[in-house]
Amino acid sequence: MSLILIKNGHVVDPENNINKKLDILIEKGKIKKLEENIEPFAGCEVIDATDCIVSPSFCDIHVHFRDPGQTYKEDIRTGSMAAVAGGYTTVVCMPNTIPALDEPSLIRYVIEKGEEVGLCRVLPAGAITKGRKGKELTEMWLLKDAGAVYFTDDGAPVMDSFIMRKAMEYAGSIGTFVADHCEDLNLSNNGVAHEGEIAAALGIPPLPPEAEDTMVARDCILALRTGMPVHICHISSKVAVETVAWAKALGANVTAEVTPHHLSLTDDEWLDFHCKAKVSPPLREHEDVEAVRWGLASGIIDFVATDHAPHAHHEKMLEHQHCPPGMLGLQFALPTVLELVKKDYFDINRAIQVLATEPMKKIGLKPPAIKEGETAELVIFNPTESWEVNEETILSKSKNTPLLGRKLRGKVKFTFYNGKIVYSDTSGVCCG
Ligand SMILES: [Zn+2]
Repeated sequence: MSLILIKNGHVVDPENNINKKLDILIEKGKIKKLEENIEPFAGCEVIDATDCIVSPSFCDIHVHFRDPGQTYKEDIRTGSMAAVAGGYTTVVCMPNTIPALDEPSLIRYVIEKGEEVGLCRVLPAGAITKGRKGKELTEMWLLKDAGAVYFTDDGAPVMDSFIMRKAMEYAGSIGTFVADHCEDLNLSNNGVAHEGEIAAALGIPPLPPEAEDTMVARDCILALRTGMPVHICHISSKVAVETVAWAKALGANVTAEVTPHHLSLTDDEWLDFHCKAKVSPPLREHEDVEAVRWGLASGIIDFVATDHAPHAHHEKMLEHQHCPPGMLGLQFALPTVLELVKKDYFDINRAIQVLATEPMKKIGLKPPAIKEGETAELVIFNPTESWEVNEETILSKSKNTPLLGRKLRGKVKFTFYNGKIVYSDTSGVCCG
């Protein structure tokens, strides 16, 4: 259908200061008209967006699509399917694949595979160090030239502070940045669950929050010293949020992301779901969850990233020391953020900023715009409609989430990418 009319939706586009009811006419993939009332006419397909929000589609700069090397967990096709079902049309894949994304040919592989699937924009992050071993910097310029949008050893921290400083300087000098999985491995000492009452009661090896906090402080100090940017992956503790606030107040070029699970779940999840609750950094306590929520509301935390981390069922059935950390995220970010809007932490405009526009700007891309003349790249969702998380509704290859069986509010109805419908809740993934 070359003419699509989206009727009666409430359009929210923070970058273009739009927050009102508008109809959108799309012709051959481009937004032709944006007006308060556009009458349907013969030959145009009408999407009834009554009670729905229409916004720029989302961007997640932190996903694990496990491709190459562990495609039994997820691959670029199934990861893309989960992305568009969650309202995302831009994702950045982490380099902790097998082999690690530390060579230009591997960077190009991810981009080309993403384009072949064609559902969304799949971009790679390059490794900071060769083999993610923390010893020797990769050839960042060549990786950037091949298409890496930033650098991280995610899954592992850069433990050596001298290497981290060099990485920050080098990435900053070529117009990009490093992102750190902040964890002092000596302090975490093979811990599994957040150090607190739950870990103690269940006899699970404790992982103290200072393992994260000290590394966040180190990275902030290096950013202050070098004047170069650093991005904090999956911030989760109260002290880490306060540390980023302090560094930003001093003028450091620090940004931070938070995951849906750290915004919504506590270490209580261990009581019911055991290893499905295992994630790195660990689910923490109520006061930490409150801290990341207020951090996101105030702008100390810049945006949401899911750390979408698929693992096979048999892996998540292992004992807690052996089971790999991580849980799915792409389809749960919107409901999590909408719950915070409902609870008045922030408004819908901020919700779209943290899901869509801020992460896009962080990786140097222009956010999709709901404006006449622009290519349609948008999401239509009903913020009050609920759906159940189950094996059918999860489009990832793996189903590892403690949310299985729960109902979430906030349903994606349509996702548009590159002018086309790539997902609808009635037909599923389209033209993949
Ligand atoms: Zn990580």
